[in-house]
Amino acid sequence: MTKTALAIHGGCGVMAKQDLSEADWAAARVDLYRSLLAGWAVLQSGGSALDAVQAAVVVMEDSPHFNAGHGAALNTDGEHELEASIMDGRTLETGAVTLAKCIRNPVNAARRVMEKGDAVLLGGSAADDFARVEGINIVDQSYFRTDKRVNALAAMKAHASAGTVVEASESEKHGTVGAVALDAAGHLAAATSTGGYNNKPAGRIGDTPIAGAGTYARDGACAVSGTGKGEFFIRYTVGHEVASRIRYLDETVEQSSVKVIMEELGSHNIGAGLVAVGADGSIAAPYNTAGMFRGWVTTEGRFFVATHEEVYAL
Ligand code: ASP
Repeated sequence: MTKTALAIHGGCGVMAKQDLSEADWAAARVDLYRSLLAGWAVLQSGGSALDAVQAAVVVMEDSPHFNAGHGAALNTDGEHELEASIMDGRTLETGAVTLAKCIRNPVNAARRVMEKGDAVLLGGSAADDFARVEGINIVDQSYFRTDKRVNALAAMKAHASAGTVVEASESEKHGTVGAVALDAAGHLAAATSTGGYNNKPAGRIGDTPIAGAGTYARDGACAVSGTGKGEFFIRYTVGHEVASRIRYLDETVEQSSVKVIMEELGSHNIGAGLVAVGADGSIAAPYNTAGMFRGWVTTEGRFFVATHEEVYAL
């Protein structure tokens, strides 16, 4: 038995501290904690990293506080087009769905795509149909909608017509959820789920369902789940890049993650963050925005959650 570790994020599109009440921030932290508990329970009972990240992401997809599942962002047409992926660091198997419109928990469909093995990525009505056939929970679009996202869409449309999109706050723009884990057998896994960014073009596909970009896991290196402007995560193949720096340059998880988020992506004016866990259970959670919903459980079993700079030990 080796050590276990878990880290999650609920996106780097976090409002300024003063824009929400302390009760709202506390409610988001509770859901981060619930997500950690779900993933950690799997790891503590000897379960796989794959099951742990899936369990952790499902809790955040079900929470209205984060941009995935219930509470997901809306595209230009006012529709939800959901994306998720999962990756097994042991085998490099991966599965993903994109442009899904009625899958309650897209990460569950991504897992099933991976297990079926006929495809790595299913999109649009094919993803929805696949989920239906596989008996995965299907819901109406209205299930995903929250007032917060409807308001964010209106704000982004106003920015678009005024030509001030760059001035929009990170929370108006985007968000995502993700989890990474190391299990007792020494295997790594990652999962990510998102509604994309508010007012995204209909049919736009981001980094979340792209293995190597928004999600990546490789035993012996690390597991990574990203959040931020997906087009750049794809261009820089962020997840794979973080793992490669560890493999080829012998960097630590912290060094590699910080280098990619702060330096490589740093030259672009975009929000970006990630969580990563290494083969030794070390955890990194860098971000370049005002805050990132995040949490982690160390190899000693200590729980932490945070939204902005301040980190709460639980
Ligand atoms: N990476 C997501 C996307 O571009 C958004 C985010 O994480 O904020 O779809």
